[in-house]
Amino acid sequence: MPESSTKFDVLVIGAGHAGCEAALAAARMGVRTVLVTMSRETIAQMSCNPAIGGIGKGHLVKEIDALGGEMAKVADATGIQFRMLNASRGPATWGSRCQSEMYEYKDAMRRVLETQQNLAIAEGLVEELLFEGDRVIGVQTDQETFLSQTVIVTTGTFLNGLIHRGDEREEAGRVGEPPAKQLSLSLAGKRLKLGRMKTGTPARIDKRTIEWDRLEVQPGDDPPRRFSFWDTEIRLPQVPCHIAYTNPRTHEIIQRNLGRSALYGGQIKGIGPRYCPSIEDKIVKFADKDRHQVFLEPTGLAEDNLMIYPNGLSTSLPTEVQLEFLRSIEGLEQAEIIRPGYAIEYDHIDPTQLRSTLELKHVSGLFLAGQINGTTGYEEAAAQGLVAGINAALQVQGREPFTLARSEAYIGVLIDDLITKGVTEPYRMFTSRAEHRLYLREDNADLRLCDKGRDLGLLPEAQWRQFDKKRAQIVALGEALRQQRVFPNTTVQAELAVLEEPPLKHPVSLAELLKRPRLSLSRLENTQLVSEVNWMPYPENVRRQVEIDIKYEGYLVRQEQELKHLGELERVMIPEDFSPHGISGLSREVVEKLEKVRPTNLGQASRIDGLTPAAIALLRVHLRAHRLRKSEAA
Ligand code: FAD
Repeated sequence: MPESSTKFDVLVIGAGHAGCEAALAAARMGVRTVLVTMSRETIAQMSCNPAIGGIGKGHLVKEIDALGGEMAKVADATGIQFRMLNASRGPATWGSRCQSEMYEYKDAMRRVLETQQNLAIAEGLVEELLFEGDRVIGVQTDQETFLSQTVIVTTGTFLNGLIHRGDEREEAGRVGEPPAKQLSLSLAGKRLKLGRMKTGTPARIDKRTIEWDRLEVQPGDDPPRRFSFWDTEIRLPQVPCHIAYTNPRTHEIIQRNLGRSALYGGQIKGIGPRYCPSIEDKIVKFADKDRHQVFLEPTGLAEDNLMIYPNGLSTSLPTEVQLEFLRSIEGLEQAEIIRPGYAIEYDHIDPTQLRSTLELKHVSGLFLAGQINGTTGYEEAAAQGLVAGINAALQVQGREPFTLARSEAYIGVLIDDLITKGVTEPYRMFTSRAEHRLYLREDNADLRLCDKGRDLGLLPEAQWRQFDKKRAQIVALGEALRQQRVFPNTTVQAELAVLEEPPLKHPVSLAELLKRPRLSLSRLENTQLVSEVNWMPYPENVRRQVEIDIKYEGYLVRQEQELKHLGELERVMIPEDFSPHGISGLSREVVEKLEKVRPTNLGQASRIDGLTPAAIALLRVHLRAHRLRKSEAA
């Protein structure tokens, strides 16, 4: 066994968005944790656009917050523009998003890490994982050896990272940072299946060279709505974004230079994010469109941070072509580039090799989280980091693993998708991925998850008490609205006429009245329709929650019925010693898929591509027989 002065319980490699949450979760759960990363300077660095949240991603941030994670708090403290996306649509699709002061974001997260009890931070490049048989026991960096009971790898795009710009290539994990080459070999040595993916980023433009008054202004929400359920403050000044448009000339320049794009010149073999296409991709795939929107997003407030992020212009064209097409855009004719865009290729692992705890199936104590598992995005990374950190700590403490079902959280959907279906392209979260999406909303993430955060020892008691009080108020207000009845008398009908609402035909509860599409608590509150409800004790967040719950009631009941069958399958467990081999009627392909994914229940099995209802029915019969045989033998 190698020499090392300190032994840790949990060791996290990498301080990106996954690594920060993993390290904080483990340390907060009381185990000795060390975070080993290349440089303190790049802790929580935003590699691409300086924004947290968005559609589907905002859900993840709120869920992390409800469990006791950090991302939402840091986003609130460093946000410079907050917007609720899809605000005009139903609450299930709302997506909180904020533009962050990118330097403040990473400084704030670093300060949280540096002051966290039970957490040490070490700088170093991890080159090798150390094993004893099929158990990880630590890591070797370029400088020292660390021993640890568990290890969490969160190395992002750094594994064998290769940057492309035109025909220039450079080995790097991110621009200006070295790749992790040895670590890839170390993982491959443990029979880990690796794949190759790519992603890209646009040029950063000098804000002094943009003609702002020729661009459309996009302000943030006023007042801004914070991410966190706790008492955070939005304290930085709020700034607008601006919108520019590409035009036929921009498209002609890109089209003419496609052969010089690393993406189209054939140099890049990895698979890219379909949902975040490069501008080259957009020009080719949407050839009929004569313009594309470009959001000019500030990356910060400081005088010395001049970088503007042109969202929508990710590219791997040579620098001079990037400048030429940027300058063809109205308002950017004088633009100067501070840092050119680029594409990066990197190794990822096949996530079907993971358990739902994010521990590798065949290497004990080794967890993987973040972009290394084939995802893209800070939020997806942070969510996995949190789950890996929690489970590593639980393993050390000898406690039961922690997993979230698809019906409980978007985090459950994310992990189940990864370990069941694997990835064929960088995976990002969307609301459409969740079959329980009417229930899994941003607004009720605390109601869904705070108890779990407290049981884990992650959510501080004071925050849980604050939540518990809110929950009690929600129940009380909901009750009051369901109890109070409104009768079709002259006063009520007159009030409804003022509100331009149809008259009542028979007595109803206030809750039923509230289900009318155009009525809201705030509209009802000051009318004579409401007499017995004392609004005083109920803050805005409680009222909003009750209103959503009541308006959604009918849909939720319907969704629950539709999903009942799915829930049944979820409860049929597949024991580890059950083998699908020899079941007549199951094709070899199906058996291979079951062997690869090793689902833990029939619900998960039913989501594996190619597993038909007939195959699931056969499995159910054989599982019953397996159970019977075992109980007879016992
Ligand atoms: P990272 O944030 O990459 O962090 C990895 C950490 O590991 C770093 O701290 C690094 O120093 C450390 N590390 C790596 N190897 C070692 C080692 N061997 N030893 C010690 N430390 C190590 N996401 C989107 O949603 N949309 C986009 O458009 C988008 N574009 C991107 C463009 C580029 C060029 C890049 C690089 C990323 C882009 N992303 C995008 C992805 C987003 O940045 C990542 O999904 C997210 O940062 C992943 O978080 P992570 O924690 O997994 O890894």
